[in-house]
Amino acid sequence: MEALFGGSFDPVHSGHLVVAETVAEILSARVRFVPAREQPFKRAAHVATPEQRAEMLDLAVAGNPRFAVERVELSLPAPSYSVRTLRALAEREPGNRFVLLLGADAARELSQWWEVESLPALADVMVFARPGCAVPEHRLITRVVEVPAIDISATMVRERVGQGRSIRYLVPDAVREYIATRGLYR
Ligand code: ATP
Repeated sequence: MEALFGGSFDPVHSGHLVVAETVAEILSARVRFVPAREQPFKRAAHVATPEQRAEMLDLAVAGNPRFAVERVELSLPAPSYSVRTLRALAEREPGNRFVLLLGADAARELSQWWEVESLPALADVMVFARPGCAVPEHRLITRVVEVPAIDISATMVRERVGQGRSIRYLVPDAVREYIATRGLYR
């Protein structure tokens, strides 16, 4: 069994990493970060390219044997629908069972997903939420886990870079260096 953690990761930050580590520990499973080529529900366009977002994830997961980066959505059509992603993985890795990780915010949109009825056959759905956060009721949600509240968003990281402020500790050092070297988010 492996957990899939999808998102824009524009850029990956410490909030994502704490979620993934918590889930990896609770499930005793590996977590694959799945950067979206294009997220269906994101109104604003992504800033970094899909490959840059995946490269920042490579840097962020380095050294953690329970973490990996899954690039499958980069070669699938846009927008990146989870059901399509899961079908591609099922074809590539028959017999492997996946747990799809969703934040409480993403879980609220579950009913509007493309071909959501196919989801149960492809993966279990696990929602992560900070303590006290309302988790929506949905028959497809099989498990809920509490994760420590870390109030960081990628939007906050991008804004800070744009303002010339520090993002030290908000993202891993190697990601911070990557952002500086490429001049991303300025
Ligand atoms: P943006 O600010 O660009 O919208 P984001 O920081 O929310 O991005 P995404 O890459 O869209 O990051 O996040 C992927 C998933 O991780 C989403 O389900 C989101 O809810 C969750 N997530 C993001 N930041 C945190 C955090 N600090 N704590 C817990 N979950 C988070």
